[in-house]
Parts: sequence; structure tokens; C-alpha cells
Amino acid sequence: MRRQLKAVALRGAAISGLFALSRRRTRKAARILAYHGVSATFDPHLNFDGFFVHPDVFERHLRTLAGHYHVMPLDELVTALRTGTELPDCATAITFDDGYLNNFTEALPLLEQYRLPATFFVTTGFLDHTHAPWWWTIRQALRDQPRNAVIDWEAKLKRLPAAQREAEMKKAFGDALPPNDVGLAMMSWDNVRELVQRGYQVGGHTVSHISLGHETRNIVLAEVSESMQRIQSEAGTVSPVFSYPYGEAEHFNAEWSAALVERGITGGLTTQQGLNGPQTDPFRLNRLNVTGNHDRYAFRALASGLSSRCHCP
Ligand SMILES: [Zn+2]
Repeated sequence: MRRQLKAVALRGAAISGLFALSRRRTRKAARILAYHGVSATFDPHLNFDGFFVHPDVFERHLRTLAGHYHVMPLDELVTALRTGTELPDCATAITFDDGYLNNFTEALPLLEQYRLPATFFVTTGFLDHTHAPWWWTIRQALRDQPRNAVIDWEAKLKRLPAAQREAEMKKAFGDALPPNDVGLAMMSWDNVRELVQRGYQVGGHTVSHISLGHETRNIVLAEVSESMQRIQSEAGTVSPVFSYPYGEAEHFNAEWSAALVERGITGGLTTQQGLNGPQTDPFRLNRLNVTGNHDRYAFRALASGLSSRCHCP
């Protein structure tokens, strides 16, 4: 019922021109959209939160972006923010996190069809098959449990250092835990090279998807450097912008900024919901988190900045 009321309210907002008004109000702010994947085939028990967006929904998003926003490469957008250079109105960058194969097979053809640039942040250990997304393991283990149980487990486990998390998972699920290969296909390095050849950018997202706020300095800096070097050596290039796994405030420690600069990184992406202006810390850039639940009007509301904090210039 609440969902239906929200849908009616959003439709009303669209008809009354509220989205266009909001877009105009926030036109000087920069938007960075955060996706994870695009797929029509995922089991709704596992993809209950719209982690992967249906291709039809993604295409509607792209149509809105192509029609009303200035989609540009992320590194150019971040450089303009850092240097105070004026951005085009409604400047927007598209990003994908983690490195799922569907980024290449499903998202790329649609991005190319609409001629829109994007940046793909890959967890290098996922591509090398030395690590796997632990949250998908949890979703499979708790497949028949209420969704709140899954959400609670994920919230608890992402706050733990990796070693402790693995111990907790083993203690709680023991032999019931599915093997590390959780049926979630990742891109190959050939896919990554092809992305680069077709003009897309690829950036770092650590080696094993650690939290930069909950690990030791040695582990954090080793994972940042290794992931950047791995991408550089495989793809011949790496984005100077880094994406922090998990991304909320607690998953990034401000003292890492200087160390990131030393490693050639010029900006860092959080998953904190919001728009960006010249006064936004380049190592705490906000994003707009997009899911498959952002249907036509919900996406237009999100992209317009209607539901975001805006320190608009
Ligand atoms: Zn991630």
C-alpha cells in the first residue's frame, strides 16, 4: 500500500514538473551514479534489493540520462570539481562496482547504444578468482529465510575485518555454507581490456573487497596499491579515481587520503547518497545509488536531486 502511494506521488510529481524544477535547481551540481550490475535472470530471492537492474529498466535510465543530463567521463568530472572548472549543466558520470560479468555482457551494449561513457571499478581478486563476493554466499545460505535476516547478517559482517568475518561465517553456517564459487560470474581480464579498447574507464576497488575503515594500515595500503597495479598491468591504464568498498562513512578513514594521493589517486567514491559541488571533499565524493527498484519515476526523482542533499553552487 505504502509503495503504491509512493508510486502515485512520484507520478504526480512528474506530471506537475517537479522533477524538471529540481533538475534546474541542482543543475550546477555533479551526479555520480552507482550501479552494480544489469541482468534479467537473477533469482528474486537473491536479488531481492535490486542489486542487479533489469536491462529494460537500465535502458529507461539511459534514455532519461541521454535526454536530460550531460553524461561525461568520471575522471573529467572529478578533475573539474577539484580544480573549480565549470562543469556543463547536469553533469553526470555512470559507475559500476565490483566487476560482474553482466557489466560487460548486458550493460556495455546498452551504454554503447546510447553512446554514454562509464567507469567500471573492479575487485581484482574477484577477477583472479582468489576471492569471491561473500555477501552472495550469505544470500545463498539464507535463501529461504526472511529478508531481514539476510540484511542483518550483511550489515553485521561488512563491519568486520576479513579474517574475523570468515571465522564468523564458518561459526554460524559451518558446512551449510555454499562453496566459494557462488555462481556469480565476474569479468575476465580480456573483458576488461575490451572495455578499455572501446573507450571505457576501469578503476580500483581493492583486491578482496575489504573495508578501508575496518582494516589495518598495512592491509589497506597493500590492497589499494596491488589492485591499482594489477589493473594497470592487465589493461595498460587505470582510472585515477578509486571506489571504496561498501562506501558508507565508516568504511573510509580520512587518514588514508594522503596515502592515496601518493599512489596517484585523485578522488575517492563513497556510497553516501548525494550530489557534489566544488566544496565536496574529492576523497569523499557522494554518489546516487541506483537499484532495480528505481522504476521510471523513482529514477527521475533520484537523478533530479529531489531526494538528495545539495550544497549547490
Ligand atoms: Zn563493492
